[in-house]
Amino acid sequence: MGDGLLKIELARVYGFCPGVRRAVEMIEEHLAREGAVATLGAIVHNSRVVETLARKGATVVKSVAEIETPAVAITAHGAGHEVYEEIRRRGLKLVDTTCPIVKRAQEVARDLAREGYTVLIYGEEAHPEVRGILSWTAGKGYATMSADDLPPFKGGKLGIVSQTTKDPETFWGFVREVIRRLHPRIKDLRVVDTTCPETGRRYRAALELAKRVQAIFVVGSRNSANTRKLAETCKKTGVPTYFIESADEISPEWVRGLERVGVTAGASTPDELVEEVVERLKELGGDGR
Ligand code: SF4
Repeated sequence: MGDGLLKIELARVYGFCPGVRRAVEMIEEHLAREGAVATLGAIVHNSRVVETLARKGATVVKSVAEIETPAVAITAHGAGHEVYEEIRRRGLKLVDTTCPIVKRAQEVARDLAREGYTVLIYGEEAHPEVRGILSWTAGKGYATMSADDLPPFKGGKLGIVSQTTKDPETFWGFVREVIRRLHPRIKDLRVVDTTCPETGRRYRAALELAKRVQAIFVVGSRNSANTRKLAETCKKTGVPTYFIESADEISPEWVRGLERVGVTAGASTPDELVEEVVERLKELGGDGR
């Protein structure tokens, strides 16, 4: 059974994606320079980050109407054009943390709609990012997750884009199915792959890690869709997977007798939570190194 010390390996890619890191840094900079700001929804789906920012003056609101601070922040998921108009009307200072990759998806959808395309968005209609992209199509966009559920399409120009966090292969599978069903009516087709490479990088790194360890710890909030999916990806490998929000959830039983465990984290999980998990695992497994 080895030397009794637990080896802890981190995934090659884990935790904050560049878009989320940028958003948190922009909010922190604003708080330090100008003070209080209201964020339209949580800046990250992670309660530790939200609480830390709240202590420094960032309050979470659901709509522009609720804002009592002079400044407002749009999250990395972006927002619809009507939100920008309302902010302008109220004369609020805007901290726009929309991720550049989401911004591109919005611009592509907006331009396609302006050029007369019906815009199909492969994504979840209720997701804030998709609602934002839809808004930029000025009524010419539809969101769906399945080719079985296509909007009425009389014919003409069709544009297809994706929610950024979707897997590119699934997106292209959707595109092929849409073409198969609608091709006699499509006169002009534009497909723009607006998926973000960051999500896939975390899944691939977790799968590589799973090959080398006896258990995997996935760190992140249970309300983070991408962390949940990361945990599901790990579980499918058959390696025991523990989806935890913080280090204190770890039971000593989980690592008893193990020699090598892996740690990964979703795109909304801050480094400090991962570091705390690694520290706890070290305590439980000798010095861990
Ligand atoms: S996952 Fe990609 S699109 Fe989403 S915030 Fe991160 S970098 Fe941007």
